[in-house]
Amino acid sequence: MKVEELTGLPEGVVDHFHEQGIEELYPPQAEAVEAGVTEGDSVVASVPTASGKTFVAELAMLSSIARGGKALYIVPLRALASEKKAEFEEFEQYGVSVGVSTGNYDSDGDWLAQKDIIVATSEKVDSLVRNGAQWVDDLSCVVADEVHLVDDSHRGPTLEVTLAKLRKLNENLQTVALSATVGNAEVMAEWLDATLVDSDWRPIDLRAGVLYGQALHFDDGSKTQISRGNEKATAALVEDTLSDDGSSLVFVNSRKNAEAAARRLADVTRDYLTDEERTKLRDIAAEIRDASDTQTSDDLADAVAKGAAFHHAGLASEHRALVEDAFRDRLVKVISATPTLAAGVNTPSRRVIVRDWRRYDGDVGGMQPLDVLEVHQMFGRAGRPGLDPYGEAVLIANNHDEMDELFDRYVWADPEAVQSKLAAEPALRTHILATVASGFADSEDELLSFLERTLYATQTTESGRLAAVADNVLEYLERNEFLEREADGGLRATGLGHRVSQLYIDPMSAAEIIDGLRAAEDRPTAMGLFHLVARTPDMYELYLRSGDREEYTELAYERETEFLGSMPSEFEDHAFEDWLSALKTARLLEDWASELDEDDITERYGVGPGDIRGKVETAEWLLNAAERLAGELDLEFGAAIREAKKRVEYGVEDELLDLAGVRNVGRKRARRLFAAGIESRADLREADKSVVLGALRGRRKTTETILENVGRKDPDLDGVSADAEAEATATSSSNDGQQSLGDFQ
Ligand code: ADP
Repeated sequence: MKVEELTGLPEGVVDHFHEQGIEELYPPQAEAVEAGVTEGDSVVASVPTASGKTFVAELAMLSSIARGGKALYIVPLRALASEKKAEFEEFEQYGVSVGVSTGNYDSDGDWLAQKDIIVATSEKVDSLVRNGAQWVDDLSCVVADEVHLVDDSHRGPTLEVTLAKLRKLNENLQTVALSATVGNAEVMAEWLDATLVDSDWRPIDLRAGVLYGQALHFDDGSKTQISRGNEKATAALVEDTLSDDGSSLVFVNSRKNAEAAARRLADVTRDYLTDEERTKLRDIAAEIRDASDTQTSDDLADAVAKGAAFHHAGLASEHRALVEDAFRDRLVKVISATPTLAAGVNTPSRRVIVRDWRRYDGDVGGMQPLDVLEVHQMFGRAGRPGLDPYGEAVLIANNHDEMDELFDRYVWADPEAVQSKLAAEPALRTHILATVASGFADSEDELLSFLERTLYATQTTESGRLAAVADNVLEYLERNEFLEREADGGLRATGLGHRVSQLYIDPMSAAEIIDGLRAAEDRPTAMGLFHLVARTPDMYELYLRSGDREEYTELAYERETEFLGSMPSEFEDHAFEDWLSALKTARLLEDWASELDEDDITERYGVGPGDIRGKVETAEWLLNAAERLAGELDLEFGAAIREAKKRVEYGVEDELLDLAGVRNVGRKRARRLFAAGIESRADLREADKSVVLGALRGRRKTTETILENVGRKDPDLDGVSADAEAEATATSSSNDGQQSLGDFQ
């Protein structure tokens, strides 16, 4: 099917596809059109990675908009939202407007009513529905990207319930679900009342195989020799690809391993760079160093300068973007990555090497083999259409038996079936409260009939199981005064229940926070509050390493009076351990809010800069929730909570709160201004400009911007020179003016 044959799209769009080099539809795309995707019909497209799923989504959304509708695109990760937005903004020239909704989970995002396409995560959409966003009723088309993630026990239930809610709000909603190839795509199609497009077509040939010793065996029966000498298998494979002018993606099972692999592989790639490439890579390395002042950032820059990189969820987004671009421009020749972001990031390469096929699983407490689905998604990144002659995906075996096992387990195997995780209690706790609070059900019968619209209900064979779990959850919610059950089966959320649902926190987190605040007698310290939010189920725990137990036990006794609520005894093994890991997180937050350098924090806790950011954002969000709950329940200490929240937000001590809130100031500049005697916004508006310039190390542009932001009447610096004493003080303090986490807002 040719693109000209497409009908019902906004004027000019077909020409635009031509310009992008799309002449002919890929076979699964043509199938989707035949299934009515441009006419408002629902479709589940289960096709391999890089086979043009985004195009199917675009056809659905654009044709829906041409008919006067409005589309929503649900992304699997927040990190992908702006990338997708940028992709869809290409259509703005044809009158299609695009908005992305990230940010806080407690606003209704009314401004999005003006947009034709809205990009958001399922959590964000869920929260918009809870907060009564009106435009949700006007949606005519919803796209769920990576819908197989309904299988994920942490995030799947939200996607599942969100789709059920959107479809209940609007019976005629077109649902387009994009999925990797899975074992039971037909069940998803049945659930969504959609036509199934199920295909394993790929735009570029893929050969999958296993390396054992020097021999690389492929699934088509062919075999190549890889010369190895003393080299490790991965390095030999990367070098072999390089000698044919190709790039490689190496998947490993932890961030540490990704970093170590990049360091080693850089010694291979460095010999394959031209002078021009070396110069360009040096510039990129400098940008990486500028983006954050941590060891991770330095390590990444060192590797990139030699043509290698690592990629994992602990990287700051600026780092990720720089690495991905450099790889696409073929400057970086190899990326070693953890699989977390790999599914969504479009970075194809000639050869994909799955080095580790087992990964540590905390739920099981040991190493577990990866799912076939995941490994196939990694395989899918092999081969760049139009650039590479073919793609190659390679696993590595250490002995003959392992080679056979890898062929059976991954190369020949079909991906698993997707299985709903909704019946788990934490998921139902959150979603049942939200379903009642936002008016989707006002009786137990209605609640059950709503839950019938989920994938879980489509899949379950155990009759009565859903009703039994739902009953447990209702009892919990009633006991904590989040909802009331009436004798006739009626359900009503209380004021507190409504608030909890809008705040988008787990009801169990809310209960923990409320109990903690009620237990407080004196004004809580920042540490007390940090610990309180760190022990809720909404904060991912920091893992206790060997030796941590003693250290944090000691600290726990030392700071015992500050905790809100009573500390479990050392004999309650599990509860005590959880208390200590929350303490570890709380101390990280305290260090951050005491102006400790990012770099020292990453070292002290064994985390990446992206993790600090994650913890800081989560703490800010939970402290905000705590403040609102305190307000709702007329509890004291709202001011103490607000102050703790501001301290994590800016990463500063109390005395800098006023200054650090000025845009472009951030934690380090605030400290320098303070050292120069400028202690508040008012001071900044009045101070001698040469002192301000000196304290900001003579950076004129930055100084003018800051003076403007603080509302100074005459921000320009004509004829002003930096005060020498202020500059000397500022320069002698530890770090230079690099952007730090404190500046990310
Ligand atoms: P997926 O979402 O399935 O992983 P993408 O939608 O990112 O894959 O598509 C991969 C690449 O293929 C993109 O660069 C896209 O522009 C290109 N592409 C999609 N459809 C076609 C087509 N019909 N002809 C040529 N290129 C296409």
